[in-house]
Amino acid sequence: MIVMKFGGTSVEDGAAIKRAADIVLGRLEQRPVVVVSALAGVTDSLLAMSRAAASGSLPEAMELLRQTRQRHLEVLSGLVSGADEAAVRERIHTLVDALRDILGGVATLGELSPRTTDTILSTGELLSSGIVNAAFQSRGIPSVLVDSRRCIVTDATHTRAVPLFEETTGRLQRELNPLLQINQVPVMGGFIAATAEGVATTLGRGGSDFSAAIIGAALKAKRIEIWTDVEGMMTTDPRLCPQAQRIDVIGFDEASELAYFGAKVLHPATLIPAVEKNIPVHVLNSRNPKSKGTCIRFRAPRSRTVFRAIAAKKRMQVINVRSPRMLMAHGFLRALFEVFERHACAADLVSTSEVSVSVALDSSRDVSALLRDLEKLGEVEVENEKAIICLVGKHIRGRVGIAAKVFQTVAEGGINVRMISQGASEINISFVVEESDVPEAVQRLHRCFFEAGCLSQAAEAGTRLQEPSLASHLGARPEVG
Ligand code: ASP
Ligand code: MG
Repeated sequence: MIVMKFGGTSVEDGAAIKRAADIVLGRLEQRPVVVVSALAGVTDSLLAMSRAAASGSLPEAMELLRQTRQRHLEVLSGLVSGADEAAVRERIHTLVDALRDILGGVATLGELSPRTTDTILSTGELLSSGIVNAAFQSRGIPSVLVDSRRCIVTDATHTRAVPLFEETTGRLQRELNPLLQINQVPVMGGFIAATAEGVATTLGRGGSDFSAAIIGAALKAKRIEIWTDVEGMMTTDPRLCPQAQRIDVIGFDEASELAYFGAKVLHPATLIPAVEKNIPVHVLNSRNPKSKGTCIRFRAPRSRTVFRAIAAKKRMQVINVRSPRMLMAHGFLRALFEVFERHACAADLVSTSEVSVSVALDSSRDVSALLRDLEKLGEVEVENEKAIICLVGKHIRGRVGIAAKVFQTVAEGGINVRMISQGASEINISFVVEESDVPEAVQRLHRCFFEAGCLSQAAEAGTRLQEPSLASHLGARPEVG
């Protein structure tokens, strides 16, 4: 079997749902389970109406509710007709009426608990899955609506509930296997679940990918398909560099590094249940289903290029702390990071010398309180308008000359490098530059490592330090001749 997850933009309106149906029709033989997000923008608007209700603006909440009802009814009527339409229409009204009552309660109490938030948010996927299921049936897909709240069991950490995997696996197998055996296509809402007592929970924003991974892992899927509105993951941001190419295959750890540095296709952490079981996850474009997309695997084969991708994270600031006390003393770094911890500031990049430490972090947050505390440790200086450039590729490990090539390429553009880091895993090389240098640096690096031949030169020039040959493992002497 396979899991096919359609994100919000892939079910945003009638046309998108028809495209999704066509894609599923082409894969019936692979016995799909379909997971859908709420229609694009609906979760945000449910959040907005619950906040409006809680803050006393019930009319505003009711207006948003009216629009939500209207939108779903319209999408439905463009897809389904007759008795089938009437049944789903009824379902939409029931769900939206219940929501109206809950919002009224929230407004009366002036209080919005995480538990109530989950009940409100779950409406989005309950609505979308009902419509998609009916649309699929009217296009000849033998689909059945399955309530995810009966299958995915979580703890009660509302708004980011944690699945109880054993119980969930058992329930998913009991609910879905009999349907798959008779070639039916289960359609389920992503993101939503329930506690063992049946109270609605949600898995955190973007949680439909997580649902797909949980279902795929429980049913030992051959493949998980994440249908979205982009071509997959790219070698770099196409807005920075029009020569960016689609990545065919990427390792899970590489994809995680990229997500951290702002490649926003999906958050690989949500795929862990599937990736751990070695189930390949394909990111595909529902507007261009023929494109091969990107496959994320636990163990990805070596890429043709030295690096898998280049990411840039703008809006960074660098905080420098200099202290003569640091010289040959211990405990300084601990004291320093305790300050960061106290202010809940996550450092993106750290580099240290004998007497100074530089920390790069997001500049969107106000660090004045942090700086006051840091000043107790030493001389503090802040540099703004910086960016991190990060080259990711797990097969750079043990290859000589690659960092040299990276910094030579950047230097040829007259670009100054402020901080450098290469983690222990050697899966990425990251450095800080002026924000205004980002396009030039990324284009140069992309040209060198993805378009021109200088990558193979680097690879050839590079001796492999690790990965000794089989012969040397066996103690055989290389043949001379
Ligand atoms: N609808 C939810 C959200 O917008 C879950 C998802 O789409 O993955 O976060
Ligand atoms: Mg998403």
